[in-house]
Amino acid sequence: MKKHIFSITFALICFTACAQTDSVQIYTNRDYYDVEKIIYQAKDENPNIKNVILMIGDGMGLTQLYAGMTTNRGSLYLENCKHIGLSKTYSSSSYITDSAAGATAFSTGQKTYNGAIGVDKDGNPLKTILEMAEEKGMATGLVATSKITHATPAAFIAHQKDREMYEAIAADFLDTDIDVFIGGGKRGFEIREDGRNLLNELESKNYTIVEDVNKLSKVKKGKLAGLLHDDHLPNVKGMNGKPGRGDMLQKSTDAALNLLSRSKDGFFLMIEGSQIDWGGHSNFSWYIAEEMMDFDKSVGQVLKFAANDGETLVIITADHETGGFALTDGDIASGTIGGMFTSSYHTGVMVPVFAFGPGAEELMGIYENTEIFNVMVRALGL
Ligand code: MG
Ligand code: ZN
Repeated sequence: MKKHIFSITFALICFTACAQTDSVQIYTNRDYYDVEKIIYQAKDENPNIKNVILMIGDGMGLTQLYAGMTTNRGSLYLENCKHIGLSKTYSSSSYITDSAAGATAFSTGQKTYNGAIGVDKDGNPLKTILEMAEEKGMATGLVATSKITHATPAAFIAHQKDREMYEAIAADFLDTDIDVFIGGGKRGFEIREDGRNLLNELESKNYTIVEDVNKLSKVKKGKLAGLLHDDHLPNVKGMNGKPGRGDMLQKSTDAALNLLSRSKDGFFLMIEGSQIDWGGHSNFSWYIAEEMMDFDKSVGQVLKFAANDGETLVIITADHETGGFALTDGDIASGTIGGMFTSSYHTGVMVPVFAFGPGAEELMGIYENTEIFNVMVRALGL
């Protein structure tokens, strides 16, 4: 008996010690930014909603958010949103959603199976909010820090049974009149098994193709295809001696807002911080914190635009949490976090939803992820 208790105690000590030495990742951020107060003031009792901007932090659970908040010395632009809710993320096929089903819930209002891009449970195409906005004559845009054909942006514009069908997804961009799209994934438009060169086809549809992030702002009118990398963009600060993407997301957000806000009939824009998720998959606390702060800087740009514009509803949320991430240590004064993970995949927990501008109160409470589609459609009268 004594021997038995000893083994259990020994096992527990060993387990605790191993877990702590192997898994807690301490990260201190030295490169923080100031967060300004941004206030939306309704001009009248029933303010008009002309534009909707949906911002998706892929894999951004509450812990990811608080990790970024801690490493940014205690505050994020997100805090300017006063209307907050929680969204239930499960898909039609699994308690644990993937990004394809998660984004399809936002884009079409239907829960579907993991891997589905803009199609229902049976694989039938569903009209997306981006397509509905186009039909109504609104301007539309997609911005991501992954390939633009990756699951999250793809679900707003493409209809494919499997998220891996990148070439087919790229071809679906040509079947729309999307005004602005910016991200990586140029190769899928250029070097294809079907022999089509979609870059040429885009040009003949009057798109200006931009491959250099610093040239985005030179496009002052017309349609813009920003294909800034052959594959995914790198992470924000770079790793293993490779350079990062720097302020690509902020420059892309600026370019999209400048072009789309020219539309007299309003616009729909989706902006994704794609790589918060990848920090979770790779179980790197530093990766999550850096991508979280990068995404939040663009949240700041969007909220400033919306506060100034007065007719823009901004929704900031996630498709799911990634990594089963927990903060077991931290220090706000030095911007330090200690993070641990329980998974290298997504988890099933509800994720936060933040809203700003006219109609923001519609996003308070607890609801299905598909409700975000319903709120956007009602807001724009689609
Ligand atoms: Mg994504
Ligand atoms: Zn993921």
